[in-house]
This record gives sequence, C-alpha cells and structure tokens, in this order.
Amino acid sequence: MARDPRFDILFDPVRIGPVTAPNRFYQVPHASGMTNALPRVRAGFRETKAEGGWGVVCTGACSIHPSSDDSPLPFATLWDKDDIKAHALMTEAVHRHGSLAGVELFHGGAVVMNRTTRTPPLSPSGTPWMATHIGFMSNLRPRIMDKQDIRDLLQWQAEGARKARSAGFDIVYVYAGMGYLPYEFLLSDYNQRTDEYGGSVENRVRLIRQMIEVTKEAVGDTCGVALRVSLEELRKRPGRHMASEAHEVIALLKDDPDLFDVKLDTTPTDCSASRFSPEGSHEPIISFVKTLTDKPVVGVGRFTSPDTMVSQVKRGVLDLIGGARPSIADPFLPNKIKEGREDEIRECIGCNICISSWHDGVPVRCTQNATAGEEWRRGWHPEKFAPARRQEKVLVVGAGPAGLECARVLSRRGVQVTLADKADEFGGRLRFETRLPGLSAWGRVLDYRMQALRSDANVEMYPGSALSADDILEFGCDRVVTATGSRWGTELYADSELPTAPFNAPGVYTPDDLAAGAVPEGPITVFDFDSYYMGGLIAEWLARQYGDVTYVTPAGQASAWTIMTNELPRVHQALTRAGVPVRTLSRVAGFGGGALTLTGLFVDQPERIACRSLVITGLRRPDDTLYQQLMARPADLAAAGIRSVDRIGDAMAAGAIVHAVFSGHEYAREFDLTPAERNWRRDRPVVTEPFGPGIYEG
Ligand code: ADP
Ligand code: SF4
Repeated sequence: MARDPRFDILFDPVRIGPVTAPNRFYQVPHASGMTNALPRVRAGFRETKAEGGWGVVCTGACSIHPSSDDSPLPFATLWDKDDIKAHALMTEAVHRHGSLAGVELFHGGAVVMNRTTRTPPLSPSGTPWMATHIGFMSNLRPRIMDKQDIRDLLQWQAEGARKARSAGFDIVYVYAGMGYLPYEFLLSDYNQRTDEYGGSVENRVRLIRQMIEVTKEAVGDTCGVALRVSLEELRKRPGRHMASEAHEVIALLKDDPDLFDVKLDTTPTDCSASRFSPEGSHEPIISFVKTLTDKPVVGVGRFTSPDTMVSQVKRGVLDLIGGARPSIADPFLPNKIKEGREDEIRECIGCNICISSWHDGVPVRCTQNATAGEEWRRGWHPEKFAPARRQEKVLVVGAGPAGLECARVLSRRGVQVTLADKADEFGGRLRFETRLPGLSAWGRVLDYRMQALRSDANVEMYPGSALSADDILEFGCDRVVTATGSRWGTELYADSELPTAPFNAPGVYTPDDLAAGAVPEGPITVFDFDSYYMGGLIAEWLARQYGDVTYVTPAGQASAWTIMTNELPRVHQALTRAGVPVRTLSRVAGFGGGALTLTGLFVDQPERIACRSLVITGLRRPDDTLYQQLMARPADLAAAGIRSVDRIGDAMAAGAIVHAVFSGHEYAREFDLTPAERNWRRDRPVVTEPFGPGIYEG
C-alpha cells in the first residue's frame, strides 16, 4: 500500500554532526538486559529494529570504566578489546540495514554500587542516591571526587569514545541523565562543590562541556556526539537569567553536542506506565529545548501514533522521534508507516514488563512482542513465520491473550484455525481488566490480534461458544489447544506466610466475582497478597465508585511488585487520591459480623476494623478442567482423530499477560517441531584475548 503523504516528513534524513540519520525514527538507548555476556542475542535484538526501519539504533547504558559497575542490574561494558568485538557484532548488524548505530557511554556515579568491582562509587560531593530504592542501594556511601578523579573521568570518556569508534558506532553519547555522574554535577542537591565544577549553573555544566569536548576529540569527524540530559528537576528550579535552570543548561550547551537527547529524571516519570501517563507526556518538560538550540533534538513519549509523531515534528518539539518501548513492541513500526500499513502497528501498551526484565536481570521481555529477545536465541522474527509442516486444523478454546496470540501465529503459519470462546466478546481477562482505572491501553493486546485475525482467511472465530469435551470430540480437528484461563481463589494468608485453605464466607469476593458484576457492600477491605497491579487497582476502582475502601497487604508496600515496573510510587499516590488507607505488613486474621480482624505480619497485634465485604486478591490457579476432561478420554481422542491436546497461558500456569502471550506464541511456533528443534541457542561472551587487565587503554 502507498504511504499517506502526510507521514512523508517522518522519512526525511536528519544530519547529526558528521553522520546522517536516514529518517526520523530513532531508537534511543534503552536497557535490554543484554550484557556483553550475550553479544549475539543483543546484536539480533538491535538488528531487528534496524531491519524494521529505525534509522538510528542505540545500545543501552555502556560502562566506560569499572568504577561504573551497575551489577547485579545488567549493563554493557566497553572496557577491553573483547568488549569492542562484542559491540562490533551489533554495529555490523545495524549497518547491514543502512541504519546508524549509537552507543550510550555511561558513568553511573553514586547510582551504581560497584558491587562486583568493589570500588567506592564516585560522586561530586559524596551524596548517596535514592534512599528509598532499598533493593538497589548499598551500604557503601560514595566518595567525593577530587581534581584527579575528574581528569580520570575525562580520560575514561575519551577512551570509551575511541573504543566505540573502533567498534563501529556512528553516534557516541555523553550521558547526563537519570541520576548518573554528569547529572549529579548538574544538580545542586548532589553538587555542593566550591571549586570551578560547583556553585553557579555555568560551573555545574563545566564537566559535561569537557566530556563533550574530549569525546569530539576522540572520534574526530567520524561520529556524531550526542548529549543525553534529564531536565525534569532542573525545569522545576527557577534560573537566574532564564525561566528555569533547565533553560540555562541548554542555553549554555546549545552549540556543544551534535544532538540533544532529552528526557526526564526518574524511571516512574521518564518511563511511566500508561496507567499513569498518556502518549507524549514528556512534552511539557522538554518542548522548550528546540527554541534554544539549532542542533537536532530527540525525545520520547511512548509514541505509537504517526499523527502524533508528525505533530511533534511540525510543531517544533522534536526533530527525531525517539522510541524505546514502541520499538520493542513493534520493531517494524517505521516500515509499517512507510508502507501505508500503520493499522498493523503492534502498539506498546505501556505495561512496563520490559522494564521489569531489566530489574530481574534478564534479557528484555515484552507483553505485546513475544519475539523480543528471542531473535537470535530461538530464531523468532516478529514478522516472518515458517509455514507449518503439514496442513492441519487446530481448535483453540479460549480467546484471552494466550488463545488470541496462538491463533494469530498459527494462522500466519498457514494452519486452519478455529478460535472459540464462551464469552460473547473475545479478550478473556482483558474484558474486565481494561475497565480498571488507567488500563484502557491494555486493550491493544486484543485490538492488534483481532485486526490480524480478521485479515486472515484461514481463521474462523466463534464468540459465545462454550465448548464441552463432547463438543470438541464431535467438532473434528487435528489438534486442540486449551487457553481457558485461570480463577482467583479465596485463600487467606497464615502467620507462617503460607496461604490458608479457601475462605468462602458471605461477603467474600474475588476479582472474578467483581468482573461478573457483583457489587460489594461497604465498608470494603481489599486484602492483596498477589502484590502485582490487581489488588491496588481494585481498591482504587471500588473506592472511586463506593468510597470507604481499605487496602491491606502482608507486603511492605501497596502492589509491591510494581517497583519492578516503575509504578510503585504512583500506585501509592493513586490510592491516596482515591482516599484508600493502606495497611502494610498486615494480614487478615478473621472476618464476619461486619468486622475484620487484622494483625501484624511479624508482630501479633490484633485489631478490628468495620468491614462488610472482603475482596481477596491472592492466589490464582489454572482453570484446566476442559483439558483434564479431554486427557481423561484417550480412546475418544484417538477415535476423533485428535493428535494432541495442550494447555497454554493461564490454563497451564497463572501469570501476567506477558506470560500468556509468550505461551501462545511458543506453542504456535513450535507445536510441529521435534524436541531437538525446540532447543534454543545458548549465547557466549566474545573471548579472544588472553586474560589480562580489566581495562584496556590504547
Ligand atoms: P489467558 O490469559 O491464558 O489468555 P484468559 O483468562 O484471559 O486466559 O482467557 C481465557 C478465556 O477462555 C476466557 O475468555 C474464557 O471465557 C474462555 N473459556 C474458558 N473455558 C472455556 C470453554 N470451555 N469454552 C470456551 N471458552 C472458554
Ligand atoms: Fe510496551 Fe509493555 Fe512491551 Fe514494554 S513490555 S514495550 S511497556 S508492551
């Protein structure tokens, strides 16, 4: 199909110093969990984005020196010759598609804890970072940098830039964002120095200017030099001569880098979940930058709509459309716009599961794109599917995320697919969950797959079809896939920190009851030991409708696991706004007669609070009844010509939507492979040099 001419502007080339980006689609540096121990996984992941049309593809944070050691969080390194070779795999892969490769050179300062290298963290004035991030902090406080340390840092940056050039990168970063070392020099809270690097804004930008200078000297006219800078905090602080310190910083540096990559300061706002921030949420903070510099500007905002992208460029907000999550969810987003197929974009839903992968220390996982991180390891391509080995008819029962993804991929492989669900509308758990506050964007999981399924001639869809084992045996198919989901239980939580037996009493509800339309009587208590989004969201949702809701959890925070998805602070803010008191480190010890007995998790301190309805978000178990019924009838299955019956998604193991989509995808890709063919490839570090010093300078 022809491209809509109104999107032509997105395909203009953009000069970045001595190099030229072929279009405005710029995959900004983002964490991938792919360290130098996984160089081929990393190259495959980044290459797919170049193949999909991203004109610039960058690495995630890449440490320039062992004093910037972010372990156990995954990070890349450019320390020695083998590191250069490891990155060269990525730059060569990106160049094969005519895109530019960028590297985010990084020194973490007081944010990194140097747990492996055992070097005291460096900082301008010895101030530690974020005392609330207990999981990431250390008991070792940073040391104050002296002049020699600053000279060393500049040398490491220059060395890093030279190594980056040797590895084949086209764009080299100075990274002054997200609390990292050069950012700490910018912010007076971290920087109380009395020398020429502290005090006035002019002094606080000095280090960054010098870092840009040494980077430019190191790369000559072979690479563009980008400055990535966080502006949220600085924007809040009035400047001496301009509207804010952010304005003053940009004005002072306006001619120094070849590109400004602008962002916010902390992950909950910079990389905010869609639950709390819409597309383009950075604009109010960063829109001033282009008014102060003639250099190109890139920024992000979870952009998935080409109209929004065009608007950003035409209104002079950005020159390059930055994408991290949108490029993970759909590496082929640019090409789909280019080819007039924008309705096929697999839009990021803003769930931040990708971020949780980084916190988990593993390669990136994506709810929408099951192939992310599996390009090299399993040979999965997001847009290409091997034809099925033989003509088969597959019945998929259950059209939640698992069944939908399974049917989509099966049909792309040429399989005759029938997708049935007992509900009148497809979507499974999404039918309810997208009605909860802030989760409407999660409907894209359904929308994308319905769009794909409707365009495939070999798919038949039957909503409103509850299937029994007899129905299936009569239906006539080669294989059956049950994607029948899961059920929330009513178990409570004992003082042993183990679940109790189910607690089925009048006034006790689960999310399934609420989804089916039950209306709890107030006062309501939500007792949450699932600890992901559901308990906090249900409390917020019920409070907005009926008021008088208390949230209780044995965890230390509300929706405690959402620390992994950058949502935790904002969950607490949302509950406070909704008027929901939060009781942590507590469990329910009794319920009845209009009251609930709470007690401490570690300290036995019973307390009664008024409560007529108890909503439990605790255990979720597979609903695999249909699967078990079919498996109990092997002779009937054989007589019906059914060769296999499987479970996928929540019907196999209850999890997040990402697990269900992956499970459906995996089945559809691999159901006709042999066990040996299903084996994925194991990546290994590049090791060619003799064991030598930790850092190579040359
Ligand atoms: P998952 O996350 O694994 O995709 P969901 O709970 O979202 O699971 O979806 C499961 C779907 O399966 C629901 O839409 C439900 O209506 C459907 N389902 C469950 N049992 C049957 C059945 N026997 N026949 C048809 N549909 C079923
Ligand atoms: Fe977007 Fe979620 Fe995928 Fe991350 S995991 S890219 S937020 S859909």
